[in-house]
Amino acid sequence: MSGTYVGLPSFPRAAQDSTKDTRLRANLTHATHTIRAKRAAAVGELADWPALRAAGAAIKDHTLRHLDHYLLQLEEAVTAAGGTVHWAADADDANRIVTELVRATGETEVVKVKSMATQEIGLNEALAEAGIHAYETDLAELIVQLGDDRPSHILVPAIHKNRREIRDIFTDAMGRWGRPAPQDLSDSPAELAEAARLHLREKFLRAKVAVSGANFMVAETGTMVVLESEGNGRMCLTLPETLISVVGIEKTVPSFRDLEVFLQTLPRSSTAERMNPYTSMWTGTTDDDGPRTFHLVLLDNGRTDTLADPTGRAALRCIRCSACLNVCPVYERAGGHAYGSAYPGPIGAILTPQLRGTATELDASLPYASSLCGACYDVCPVAIDIPQILVHLRERVVQGGQVTLRGSRTTIKPAKGHATERAAMRAARWTLDHPAAWRTTQKLATRTRALHPRHAPGHTGKAWSDSRDLPELPAQSFRDWWQQRERAASAGKDTGKGPAAGGAGTTGPGVGEGGSR
Ligand code: SF4
Repeated sequence: MSGTYVGLPSFPRAAQDSTKDTRLRANLTHATHTIRAKRAAAVGELADWPALRAAGAAIKDHTLRHLDHYLLQLEEAVTAAGGTVHWAADADDANRIVTELVRATGETEVVKVKSMATQEIGLNEALAEAGIHAYETDLAELIVQLGDDRPSHILVPAIHKNRREIRDIFTDAMGRWGRPAPQDLSDSPAELAEAARLHLREKFLRAKVAVSGANFMVAETGTMVVLESEGNGRMCLTLPETLISVVGIEKTVPSFRDLEVFLQTLPRSSTAERMNPYTSMWTGTTDDDGPRTFHLVLLDNGRTDTLADPTGRAALRCIRCSACLNVCPVYERAGGHAYGSAYPGPIGAILTPQLRGTATELDASLPYASSLCGACYDVCPVAIDIPQILVHLRERVVQGGQVTLRGSRTTIKPAKGHATERAAMRAARWTLDHPAAWRTTQKLATRTRALHPRHAPGHTGKAWSDSRDLPELPAQSFRDWWQQRERAASAGKDTGKGPAAGGAGTTGPGVGEGGSR
C-alpha cells in the first residue's frame, strides 16, 4: 500500500472534478487518440499478432502457476551472479530495505529510472523522510516531480500536461532541484528535451546510487530487463556504483527465450514502435563494467493474495504497456489522477483493488470505473479479460465473501454504500427465478408506466440515473405481445382466414413481417 494516495476521494467524486477540466480533457484526448491510431497500425503489421498474444498470455499463466519455483530459481541465479536478493512482503518492508541499503552507502541522493513498483509503495516519500533525495530521470517522471504532481499514465506519466505547462514547470522548478532551465526557454520539444538533458546529466555524473524497476526478470539467468525510449534509464543502470532494483514478483519469466514474445508485443502496444530504442539487460555484477553492487528487492505487496484468486489473478499477466488506458473512454475523460493509484485506467481498476483490498471508499469504487465496453480486452497484448475481472470485483464489493489476505483465507464484509444495489440484485434474482412473480411484476410495471420517475430514488439510484435516463417501459411486454399474436394466429387458423398479422393489439415488434407460419 502506498502512502502517496491515502485519503483520496472515490473515483466518481474525483472524476466529477477532472471531467470539468477542459484543458485536461483536450490534452488527454489529443494524446490518447494519437497513440491509439499508431498502435493499431504497428500491431496491424504483424500477421501473427493473435499467436503472439496467446503466447504471451500462456507464458505469464505458466509462470504464475509455478511462481514459487521460478522465484527461487531467480534468487539462486542473481546470487550466483554476484547480486543480493531481498524479499519484501509489503510496501513498508520494501521501503525499509531500500532506505537501509542507501544509508549503508553513506549517500543522501539517488537517481531513479521509472519504476511503477516504487510509485506503488511510495518510495520517494519514504526516502525523503530518511533525508535521502530521489531524483526521477525519466523525462515525464521528471516533469511530474518538478511540478509537485502525481503521474497520471503508466507510460507517459505527464500526459495531462501540454508543452506550455511543461515549459513553465521547467522554468519555475529546475533551479530548485539542480541546474536551472535557460531563461529564454521556449515550448519547442527540442528545447525542452535539451533543458532536461543538461539538468539530468549533472545528476547522472554525480550519483553513486541508483534505484530502478524492471520490465522482466529472467529466472534461468537472473537477468533484469528494462525497456525504455530515452536512454536515461541506461545512464542510471550503468553509471552509479550501487544499483537497487525494486521489482514486483510477477515480472518473472522462466527463460531468456520467453523475451522473444514480449520484446515484440510490448513496444508495439505501448509506444507503437517495432522495437524500443533502448533495451538494457544486466545480470548481477561484472568486473570493470556497471555497478559494483547490485541488490534486487522482490516485492509482493498483495501479489500472492491476488494470485490466490482464480479469476482476478489474470491481472498479474500485465506487462504495463498502457494500451488499455489509451483506448478507454472512461480514462480519456476522467484522467489518471481520478484512479488514486500508481496504476490508472482499466488495469488500475482491476489491479489496485486486488493489491490494496476493497476496504476504502476509493478502492471499492474502482471496479465501477468502466463502461464495460471491452475495448481494453481487445487491445491487451496478454489477453487479460479486464471486463470479466471488473464484474468479478464488483460482486466482491457488493457481496463481500472469501478472499486471501496476507496468505490467509478471510471472509470480508460487503463494502459500505452498496446495500441498495445488493437488495435490488437479490430482488431481481428472486423475481427472475419465479415466473409467476416476474409476470406480475411486468404487468404492474406496464400499468403504472405513466407514473414512473425519470430518475431513480436513493443514493445508489441517484448516482446511477443522474447521468443517464431511465429506460422507458413499452406499453406491452414482449411476453404479452407474443401470446396475443399466438392467440390471434390460432384463431385465424380455426376460421381458415390465415394469420392475423396487424390484428387488434398486435403492435409489437416484427408484427406483419413473415406473419405466415
Ligand atoms: S492490462 Fe494489458 S493492455 Fe493494459 S497495461 Fe496491462 S498488458 Fe497493457
